[in-house]
Amino acid sequence: MATPELLSRLQAVTGPGNVLTGDDVQSRSTGWISRGSMQACAIVRPRNTEEVSAVMRLCHEAGQPVVPHGGLTGLVEGGHAASDEIVLSLELMNRIEEVDESAPCMTVQAGVVLQAIQQRADAAGLMFPLDLGARGSAMIGGLISTNAGGNRVIRYGMTRSLVLGLEAVLADGTVISSLYPVIKNNSGYDLKHLFIGSEGTLGIVTRAILRLMPQPRSQCTALIAVTEFAHLPRILRHLSSALGGTLSAFEVMWNEFYRLVTTPPAKQRPQLPQTYPFYVIADALGSDQQQDQARFEAALEHITDEGLAADCVVAMSAAERQAIWAVRDDVDQFHQFRPWFGFDVSMPIRHMETYVTEVRAALTALWPQHVCFVFGHMGDGNLHLNIHVGSGDPESRRRVEEIVYSGLASRQGAVSAEHGIGLEKRAYLPLCRTEQELELMRTMKRALDPKGILNPGKVIT
Ligand SMILES: Cc1cc2nc3c(=O)[nH]c(=O)nc-3n(C[C@H](O)[C@H](O)[C@H](O)COP(=O)(O)OP(=O)(O)OC[C@H]3O[C@@H](n4cnc5c(N)ncnc54)[C@H](O)[C@@H]3O)c2cc1C
Repeated sequence: MATPELLSRLQAVTGPGNVLTGDDVQSRSTGWISRGSMQACAIVRPRNTEEVSAVMRLCHEAGQPVVPHGGLTGLVEGGHAASDEIVLSLELMNRIEEVDESAPCMTVQAGVVLQAIQQRADAAGLMFPLDLGARGSAMIGGLISTNAGGNRVIRYGMTRSLVLGLEAVLADGTVISSLYPVIKNNSGYDLKHLFIGSEGTLGIVTRAILRLMPQPRSQCTALIAVTEFAHLPRILRHLSSALGGTLSAFEVMWNEFYRLVTTPPAKQRPQLPQTYPFYVIADALGSDQQQDQARFEAALEHITDEGLAADCVVAMSAAERQAIWAVRDDVDQFHQFRPWFGFDVSMPIRHMETYVTEVRAALTALWPQHVCFVFGHMGDGNLHLNIHVGSGDPESRRRVEEIVYSGLASRQGAVSAEHGIGLEKRAYLPLCRTEQELELMRTMKRALDPKGILNPGKVIT
C-alpha cells in the first residue's frame, strides 16, 4: 500500500488533482470486459515524460508497484491493479505533437486515442492504418504495449511495423528516448521493440513517432457467403493476387457469430441469408475507385464462377461499406451471453477447420448447451472464440481454457495472436514458448525492472 508520504510526493510532482484516491478511484470501471470497480490504492496522472520519470523514480525508491493504464480496452487483464498497487494513467498525455508530411510520420504522446490519430492523419491527406473496434477508446500507448493487430494487418502489419520511434520510461525513472523518425536505423539493438508488445512490464511508453501511409483514394468492400471451409483459403489466395496487393482485410465469421450480430437486439440486419456456414468481409484499399471497383468485382465474379463464393454483396457507397463493417464490429453482442470466455489464438489457416471442430466437440461433451462464436482476422492466421457454457466459475474457465489451448502446440499455434498475455493467459504461455525463450524473457525483466515494480505478475513471473 502506498504510504501517505509517497502519495503526497507524487502529488507534488504531478500537480493538484492528479493523484486520485478513494471514491475517485473506485468510481472508475476496470474496463470493457470486467466492468468492475477499480481497486488500486491511487491513480496518478502525469502530464509529461518528465513527470512519468519522476513518478517512477519515487515508486522505485519506495518499492511501490505501478500498473500503467491507457484506454482500458485490453482483453487479458493486463491492466488489473490490486489494492496495494498504483495505477499510472496516461490519460492526460493526449497531445498530437507534430505531423511531418514529408516523412510521413506523426509524433504523439502515449495517451492519444487511436481515432484522434486516424482523424489527424486523414486531415493531412494521409492514413494511420491501424484500426480496430476499440478505436474510440484505445490509446496509442496501450496499442503499442500490446502490439495490437486489428483489421488491416494483412496489408500493413501489426502496431510494431507502424512505430518508427519510441520513448519509454524504465522502472527506475530512466528515460529511454529512441524517437527516430526514419524507417531504417540499424545502429545497434533496436530498443523500441523491448517495449512494443511487452504489456507495460518492461517500461512505460510515453511518446511515439508513428509511420503514416498515403491515404487510399479508393475502397472496395464485399460481404461473401461461403459454404465450405476449404473455399476460404482459395478465396483469400485469389483476392490477394487478383487485387494486386491492395487486399487490406480478410475477416471470416462463422455462422453463429453472423447470426448473433444480425439478429435483434443487434442493430444490423442480415444482408445475406443467415444460413451459410461462413461469411467473409473482404476490403481493398487502392488508388482509383472506378478501376479498382471493376477489378474487385471481376475478382468476386471469378470466385463465384469457380463455385467458391455462394453469394455476395458489394458495397456501392460509404454507407453500405459501413453497414458491412458494423456487423463485424458489433462485439458488444457477446454481453447477451455473460459470463463468457474470450480467446484469441493463432495457427496456420490449414489447421483451423479441424481445430474448431475439435474444440466444439470437446465443449459439447461437457456442456451440450454451450454457445461458441468463432470469427477472426483469418488472413493473419488469427481466430477469436467466444464461449459461453452457463457458468463463469474458475473451474469452468479452467476446463474451457484447456479445451481451447490444448490443440494449439501440435498445430504451431499460439495462445495469443494479438491481445497479449496479461494475467489471464500467463499460465498457458509455456504452451507456445520454449523454456529458453521464457528464461530470456525473465532475464530481460530482471535487467530492466530489478525490483519487479512494473505491472507485477503480468505476462511472466
Ligand atoms: C471492442 C474491442 C475490439 C478490439 N479489437 C481488437 C483487435 O481487433 N485487435 C487487437 O489487437 N486488440 C483488440 N482489442 C483489444 C484492445 O483494444 C487492445 O489491446 C488495445 O491495444 C489496448 O489499448 P488500451 O489503451 O485500451 O490499453 P489498456 O487496456 O489500458 O492496457 C493494455 C495493456 O497495456 C499496458 N499499457 C497501457 N498503456 C501503456 C503505456 N503507455 N505504457 C506501457 N504499458 C501500457 C497496460 O498495463 C496493459 O497491460 C479490442 C478491444 C475491444 C474492447
